[in-house]
Amino acid sequence: MMKAIFLPGDKRVEIRAVAVPIPGPGEVLIAVKASCICRSDLSLYYGNAVVGGEAAGRCITGHEPAGVIAEIGAGVTAFKAGDRVAVYLGIGCGACEFCRMGNFHLCPTWQCLGFTADGGNAEYLVVPERNCLRIPDGMSFVAAAISTDAFGTLYSACKKLNVSGATTLGIWGLGPMGSSGVLAAKALGARVVVFDPIEERRHFALKLGADLALDPTSADAPSEIAAFTQGAGLSAAIDCSGNAAAQNMALDSVRPLGSVAFVGESRETTIRPSGQLIRKQIRLIGSWYFNIAEYPEITRALLDHKIDLERLATHRFTLDEAATAFRLFDERKTEKAVFVL
Ligand SMILES: [Zn+2]
Ligand SMILES: [Zn+2]
Repeated sequence: MMKAIFLPGDKRVEIRAVAVPIPGPGEVLIAVKASCICRSDLSLYYGNAVVGGEAAGRCITGHEPAGVIAEIGAGVTAFKAGDRVAVYLGIGCGACEFCRMGNFHLCPTWQCLGFTADGGNAEYLVVPERNCLRIPDGMSFVAAAISTDAFGTLYSACKKLNVSGATTLGIWGLGPMGSSGVLAAKALGARVVVFDPIEERRHFALKLGADLALDPTSADAPSEIAAFTQGAGLSAAIDCSGNAAAQNMALDSVRPLGSVAFVGESRETTIRPSGQLIRKQIRLIGSWYFNIAEYPEITRALLDHKIDLERLATHRFTLDEAATAFRLFDERKTEKAVFVL
C-alpha cells in the first residue's frame, strides 16, 4: 500500500492508503521524489475543477511530479529502472494529430494527470512511457518538478511571443507562474516589468532578476510603464493572474503591434476589442503548458543560464502535511509548495 492525497472538494484534504499501481504495457512505475502544488489544484480543493469537470476530484492529485523509474511494463524501450524523470501532464491517445505533434493536452480523448488520471501526490504513480521527460544529471527532483507546469509553461509562452533581447515584457501576477516567467524572460534576454499588489511578491521578483516591480493598483503604474519604455509601451505582456483588471491592463499597456498571452486561468472577462486589439493590431494568444518536444530546450535553458528553480520552492512538505500545505498555498503564504518524498 502507499499514501496518496485526494482533494474531494469543500477544502477537504484526504490522505488515503491505496494499492501501489502496476505498470501495464507501455507504462512505467515512478517512485515520486518531488510533486508541486499548483494554483489549478485549488480548483479541486474548492470543488470547482478547471479541468475534467464532474470526473475530476476522484483520482490522486498532483500534475507536476518528478522521480525515479522503479519498474517498467512490457514493451517499454526508451526508459529503464533507475532513470530520473519528470512527467508530462497530458495523457493522450498517442495517435491523433495533436499527440503526433507533441501536444498531448490537446488530444480529444486526453486525460489530465492529477485531475482525471492518478497523479503524483503519492509515493508512486504509473504513466505511459511517452509521458516521461528525461531530466539532466545536474537537476534536482524539486527543480525538475518546477520545470514542467511552472517554468515550462512560461518558457513556452515567452517563445510563442518571440521574447528576446529586443523585448520589453510585462508580467502580471507573481505566483509561481509569474516568478517562473521572470526567470524565463531574463534568460531569453528581455527587460521585464512585473505587477502584483502583494509587496513581498514584488520584492521576490526583483531578487529573481525583474528590472522593475509595480503595484498594478497604484495610480502611478501607467506613468511608470511609460517611463520604463520611453513612452512606447510594452512590446509584450503575459497575464498569469487570470484577474480581469490585470488582463485589461496588460492589453492597455502593450504598444501597437505588440503581443499578449493569457496564461492565468479565468472563466470570463470583458475586454474592449476595438481599442485594445483592433486599432493597435495586437496579437492575443492563449498559452497552456508546453509541447513535449520543447522540454529538452527548457532543460538546456535552465542549465545554460544556471537558473536554480529550487529558489521558487519556498515551502516543502511531507505527504502527511498535505492539509497544511494546501491551506498555506491557498492563503498565498508560499511561492511554489512542493511535496518532497
Ligand atoms: Zn500546475
Ligand atoms: Zn491523441
